[in-house]
Amino acid sequence: MAEEGISRRKLLIGGGVTVAAGTAALAYREELSRLWWQVPGIDKQRTEGEVDQPGAQWIAASRANLRYADRPADFPIDRIVVHVTEGSFDTAVRVFRDPMHAAAAHYVIRAKDGHVTQMARELDVAFHAGNREYNERSIGIEHEGFVDRESSFTKVMYEASARLAADICARYGIPVDRKHIIGHDEVPRATHTDPGKHWDWDRYMKLVRAAAKQQA
Ligand SMILES: [Zn+2]
Repeated sequence: MAEEGISRRKLLIGGGVTVAAGTAALAYREELSRLWWQVPGIDKQRTEGEVDQPGAQWIAASRANLRYADRPADFPIDRIVVHVTEGSFDTAVRVFRDPMHAAAAHYVIRAKDGHVTQMARELDVAFHAGNREYNERSIGIEHEGFVDRESSFTKVMYEASARLAADICARYGIPVDRKHIIGHDEVPRATHTDPGKHWDWDRYMKLVRAAAKQQA
């Protein structure tokens, strides 16, 4: 689930926006140029507890694990990245709330009942893909489980995730295909192997397409 890992050194700017130290100077300047939204008064209006996905439970990730943005106005959203937590649902929620974790996803789905928790607003850039460009253009969905344990991936979790993915695709006009719904392991330069070989892509995509049809 995590991206570059917590060994990455961090710089704190202003009100808690984190920028990886040691990245290219150009990327750093780009980051500074995007701090316009930190100017008081022009921050996007946010309502505490508001969710993008109807029925999702809101538990805020630490602001250190994401970057406030105004998507899709500033960055188009055209990808969904599928993750597996490699730990329990509660652990995933806890670490995403931890400002030292350096990563968070927009959603975490519980295996036993398909419960959907939203931890970052879709308009914000959550640090989940381990690739800056992909973080900026994507929404990350974490699934409770372990890549080497096929039984982690329950029917209710597949179904809940497929409904969520179909809704995200509808919100941003994202095509429902494997070019736009990808695994963390398919993100360029990703060092992570999730969701792994036991994640049933055929089954999942069939469910996403069925859910997308139901909306129409
Ligand atoms: Zn991952």
